[in-house]
Amino acid sequence: MKPKAQIVNLPVYQPGKPIEEVKKELGLDVVIKLASNENPYGCSPQATEAITAELGALSLYPDGSAAELTAALAEKLGIERSQIIFGCGSDEIIALIIRAFLEPGDETIMADQTFSVYKTNADIEGAVSIEIPLVDGKHDLQAMAKAVTDKTKIIWVCNPNNPTGTIVSESELVSFLDEVPARTMVVLDEAYYEYVTDAAYPDSIKLMERYPNLVILRTFSKIYGLAALRIGYGIGQQEVISLINRVREPFNTGRLAQVAAMAALKDQEFIATCRRLNAEGITYIQREFDRLGLSYFPANGNFIMVDVKKPGAEVFNSLLRKGIIVRPGFAVYPNYIRVTVGSEEQNKAFIGALEQVLNELNATA
Ligand code: PMP
Repeated sequence: MKPKAQIVNLPVYQPGKPIEEVKKELGLDVVIKLASNENPYGCSPQATEAITAELGALSLYPDGSAAELTAALAEKLGIERSQIIFGCGSDEIIALIIRAFLEPGDETIMADQTFSVYKTNADIEGAVSIEIPLVDGKHDLQAMAKAVTDKTKIIWVCNPNNPTGTIVSESELVSFLDEVPARTMVVLDEAYYEYVTDAAYPDSIKLMERYPNLVILRTFSKIYGLAALRIGYGIGQQEVISLINRVREPFNTGRLAQVAAMAALKDQEFIATCRRLNAEGITYIQREFDRLGLSYFPANGNFIMVDVKKPGAEVFNSLLRKGIIVRPGFAVYPNYIRVTVGSEEQNKAFIGALEQVLNELNATA
């Protein structure tokens, strides 16, 4: 059997290490996972109730178009239903956009250290990824606009950027969008949108009226705490969403995901609380990094990327032995680790473990 040539050397996505695996491997009772930017407070109890109420309908296929959820979200965002598409996580929306728009030889522009799923899917389609170096952990929008050619179909702006956590401001984004030709799609990945507290953060939905080539991605996996259910969405002009819908599988989001997302959307009090606690967590962790003399990128999501001044993998392994899972392995920033902002207790445990690990590593150096 002969596979597509472009998938042969494709790396398999490496997720954060699962808690159960680490417990078993290292014989630990307590393990704290701060590796996948999950919500430490779980999800709204209203979402759990909605799932329980739906359990009698497991033998029925879901509504593939997620009509009720689409209507609720359209009303909340003040846009048309036809401007929304739901997916099995925003991961799937990325794959669908690429499946619908990229052909072999097309070019797609992204940062050199950003969410890996853009490049993986572009590789699968035989498209060429042009990776533009971040500057101080931030998208270099001017360089990205300059890299546009006749072949450029899609530009990815991850905002806040995973893994660095930096944002581009509305004025920076507007200058960039003024440069980009209307035939090139700009995808703004806003997976961490609800966490951002900086007033300079773009109001992207409003910008869509002025820039019809803009597509926005958001998700229920992060602040809504529904990562297990796999539900995210894309927002764009009706014509673009209709094109993406043509390559969507018929039942790509499940019944439980749809009802949970509906209920979660209604509980904005839960979201406000998570947002406040996350901001407090960032303040605490950044203050502790300052005390430890560590530099970090300004955090805008629910994670912080810090320079541990040692190979990230080494610090990761030492933290793992103390029952804390973080994320190392960033090609552009080998001496950094990314840590998810946890609960107050988890953040304290992380800082305590990190301080010990750095002391131990310094003592043996
Ligand atoms: N975009 C970014 C920037 C992310 O960090 C993630 C999750 N790691 C996703 C998209 C995909 O999230 P999901 O598929 O769970 O919606």
